[in-house]
Amino acid sequence: MTRPPTLTEQVLAQLRAAVLSGELEPGRRYSATGLAERFGVSRTPVREALLELERSGMARIDKNRGVTVVPSSLEEIVNCYQLRLVLEAPAAARAAANADEDAVAEVEAKFQAMQEAADAEDIETLLRADRDFHSALVAVAENQRLVKVLEDLRNLVLTTGIATVPASRTCQELVEDHRDILEAVQSGDPQAAAAAMRRHVHNTAVLLIRREAAERQRSGDPAAHQFPGAQELEAKLLSFELTSFTTATGAAETEPQPG
Ligand SMILES: [Zn+2]
Repeated sequence: MTRPPTLTEQVLAQLRAAVLSGELEPGRRYSATGLAERFGVSRTPVREALLELERSGMARIDKNRGVTVVPSSLEEIVNCYQLRLVLEAPAAARAAANADEDAVAEVEAKFQAMQEAADAEDIETLLRADRDFHSALVAVAENQRLVKVLEDLRNLVLTTGIATVPASRTCQELVEDHRDILEAVQSGDPQAAAAAMRRHVHNTAVLLIRREAAERQRSGDPAAHQFPGAQELEAKLLSFELTSFTTATGAAETEPQPG
């Protein structure tokens, strides 16, 4: 289970970090050779890592011309959060049901790391700790495939610019937004954990949508009038949830569908 990361995995982690920190800019083209030099490795692991980056949607490879970091569109952000809502709330419930003493301690430690970063107003560390907190929870849910899927979803959203995320709320507010999730896990309450996670992910998505929508208007994007408004996007955000079907039809009973 714990084997040392391959060279390709190490390069992939470095590439992701460079995108998330803004060192590699969305929209700019980079050559595999240049990246190999930057990371001090040969081109083969760089090429393999770039393929993986493209697969996750963070980059586009143009044959023989290099790689471009793809900035996430507002629609994509909404799509990602639709999925996070659907996946992460039940995962939190599962984590609360599964968590033994060690797992609870692990989640507490991640929360503590968030708190310390917030106290130091260290935004980059705070966002990393935020991500670790979520990862620790999903790890307790015992679905390795889900760990990977959620990681991709988070990375995709973060390519819009990591440093600006907390601008809409203070560091302390960001930490507090996780407290009821922690408490639900500590008390082993799956329902409360799901509700708390759902509230947190939804809250984060709404803040991000409003900020990005305003940003696009302000930047004078000529296509801005064609974008759906923030309200429309917020409604779309919830459209994947089962409850949106049960309230529409008044009943959840449908024939099981193969799928
Ligand atoms: Zn969070």
